[in-house]
Amino acid sequence: MIKAHITAIELALTTALAQYEETMGQVFPTVPNLVPIADANFWAVADINDGPLTITVSTGLVAELKKLWMNALADDDFKAGVGGPIDASAEEMTHLGFVWLMLHELHHFEMGHFEFAGRLCLTEAHAPSTFGVVSRAKSKSSPTLTKIDAGDLPKVEPCLEMQADHDAIEMLIDAYSPDEWESLRVRTAAISAVMMLIEREDAKNNHEHSSHPKAATRIFQLLGHVIEMPMIQAKIAMQHPELEIEPIVHSDEEQAAFNRAVVIPAFFDAVNLARIADAGTIREDLGEAQDFFRDVQVAKLADPSKFDDLTTEGAVEWGRLMLFNPTLVQSQ
Ligand SMILES: [Zn+2]
Repeated sequence: MIKAHITAIELALTTALAQYEETMGQVFPTVPNLVPIADANFWAVADINDGPLTITVSTGLVAELKKLWMNALADDDFKAGVGGPIDASAEEMTHLGFVWLMLHELHHFEMGHFEFAGRLCLTEAHAPSTFGVVSRAKSKSSPTLTKIDAGDLPKVEPCLEMQADHDAIEMLIDAYSPDEWESLRVRTAAISAVMMLIEREDAKNNHEHSSHPKAATRIFQLLGHVIEMPMIQAKIAMQHPELEIEPIVHSDEEQAAFNRAVVIPAFFDAVNLARIADAGTIREDLGEAQDFFRDVQVAKLADPSKFDDLTTEGAVEWGRLMLFNPTLVQSQ
């Protein structure tokens, strides 16, 4: 079994690197060193202790993710839910989630997050403490961090997570196509599941001051991106005429049908996954559908003066981090 998990880990990284190359038009700047560790706990670490980039992943990460998907796909309420059953196997969902996590690690590296945070390793969920010790012993304080107000420092790492999430989301779900609705819902659910397990494991280990945003916050950003997908191409075409992109405008009817077939089911997929993963706080943080989507509308206005109107937990944290993100980007 462990051997199968190691193969799954290797395949996820290979797929992530291929996806990176396909969407960026160039190969990833380094060949990451992948270290699978036979450990039933759920964790992953990216570090630059020895060489450009090492990604260490527990086999428990594969096992837990697959267990969640086997339970979810067999769950009657999930199958009968909004949007109907998910058209993919537990293996496929696990693989997609894992590819996304690998892309997330690649983006931490590519965006210079190690240097910025003055850390030699970035962990996802509760990694063995040896990683933290190594990191602290060798890391030096980052000159860029000294430019940030002490009160804002707790927002730095969650913001870096949101940045890595954002680019990994874009890369895994790729461009909008009216022929890809089912695949989009599948990919969105695969990403939500990983975000949830990271928080669940963090919570188990009493991570009071987690470096990670809440799963609901990450899912809020994810669904906020998915809902905008039909409009992205026209937006880029307008903002960057020099790229000569065709400004395809999809009709309001298409957007409404897309919301019914993909966006709303994706929200309920997350709600069902939280129940099946026994992650009650995530369910609460997501809020009710009408509140969640009202918050998405507020967020879409991109007007920080309206962020006080956000009501669901995930959206409120999203607003707090997004208000700080421009300061962070300037220092990066
Ligand atoms: Zn991360």
